[in-house]
Amino acid sequence: MTIYDVIIIGGGVAGLSAALTLKTPNNNILLLEKQHYPRHKVCGEYISNEVLPLLDYFEIDVFEKGAVAISRMGISLKSGKAIQNVDLPLGGFGISRYSLDLAMYEKAVAKGVHFEFDTVTAVSFENNLFSVNSGTKTFTSKLVIGAQGKRSNLDKHFNRDFITQKTEWIGIKAHYTAKNYDPSLVSLHHFEGGYAGLSMVEGNKVNCCYLCSTNNFTASGSIANFQEKVAAQNPYLDSFFKSAEMVFDKPISIAQISFAPKDLVYNKILFCGDAAGLIHPLCGNGIAMGLHGGYLLGNLCLYYLNGSIDSQEALANTYTQLWKKTFSKRLQEGRRLQNLLLNKNINSVLLESFKTFPTLLQKVIKRTHGKPIFIT
Ligand SMILES: Cc1cc2nc3c(=O)[nH]c(=O)nc-3n(C[C@H](O)[C@H](O)[C@H](O)COP(=O)(O)OP(=O)(O)OC[C@H]3O[C@@H](n4cnc5c(N)ncnc54)[C@H](O)[C@@H]3O)c2cc1C
Repeated sequence: MTIYDVIIIGGGVAGLSAALTLKTPNNNILLLEKQHYPRHKVCGEYISNEVLPLLDYFEIDVFEKGAVAISRMGISLKSGKAIQNVDLPLGGFGISRYSLDLAMYEKAVAKGVHFEFDTVTAVSFENNLFSVNSGTKTFTSKLVIGAQGKRSNLDKHFNRDFITQKTEWIGIKAHYTAKNYDPSLVSLHHFEGGYAGLSMVEGNKVNCCYLCSTNNFTASGSIANFQEKVAAQNPYLDSFFKSAEMVFDKPISIAQISFAPKDLVYNKILFCGDAAGLIHPLCGNGIAMGLHGGYLLGNLCLYYLNGSIDSQEALANTYTQLWKKTFSKRLQEGRRLQNLLLNKNINSVLLESFKTFPTLLQKVIKRTHGKPIFIT
């Protein structure tokens, strides 16, 4: 029987980052992912430049894959009031998850990470070892990392607190060809009960990804109706939807998105990425947090495997402290910002303040982002 050093559940950016960090010639790492690569994901695909040192460490050059440099931001309200061209403090880039996750997967395979494509249905811990079950197989390991994303069948299996709470958010995304979209701009557009982000990814495509409340969405009956009747009340989105051409057969969507705080450890399983906590998408920092969190956790697991951390309890405590120190503030700021921007009594005042004092917006952006990731 193979005993893996670490099994990682979920091969999004967080799980792949943990795998790339963990793999050495002397250990065996298994990543279990339910979907094959490449695949599209509901995501705005704007990524903060803070991750560039880490991607460099993983030997992944996103610009070689066609990533688009993004240096400025714009915001518009449903009324049409807008600010444009505020410089992003650190800047970022646009690349699809189709390309980014594939590039990370290929690197992990080349490094010797073992992959199985199956859905994990249960995890148990006995006699100091984990048993991880998929539909047909059982795998054994010393450690398990849960990187299963924002909401998974596994969260129900673990009976995690957030899974029982009612959530009100739906996410929808498609790529478009749009003449005259400025590649250096990421823009946020508010509408009744939600907002849409526009930014460019490789291949001259514009990503349009929006988050909206379930109530507003279901009242419209369909994505097409929603875009026409609700989102298009914002003149910027109206003009985008009228002039852009969708390149997907149809938009992709996810429901029941939860922003509730989550536990970082359950039954000795250590969570990273969205499985540990999802930042509001308008902050555009979830991918960076996933990549960074996977790296931090991967490193700590290496310390445990080489004996520098002497127990699973010490590993869990150290990880919890480090995660909170690194990400808690960002999540809080994201919650506050989302509440302000979705409150129509406040958002107009907020926008006027950002217009008058662009440095205020830059300050807010800084508080929801991290510094360039320091590689030890
Ligand atoms: C509407 C919206 C827009 C967003 N826009 C942006 C943005 O512009 N910029 C940004 O930085 N962030 C954005 N985010 C956040 C970002 O998408 C996430 O933070 C990021 O995807 C987290 O990566 P992850 O690896 O934790 O999860 P995921 O990328 O979701 O990966 C989880 C993986 O686990 C797999 N999985 C789940 N359950 C199982 C199982 N039981 N067995 C096996 N595999 C399993 C899934 O197939 C999946 O591949 C946005 C989020 C939303 C909802």
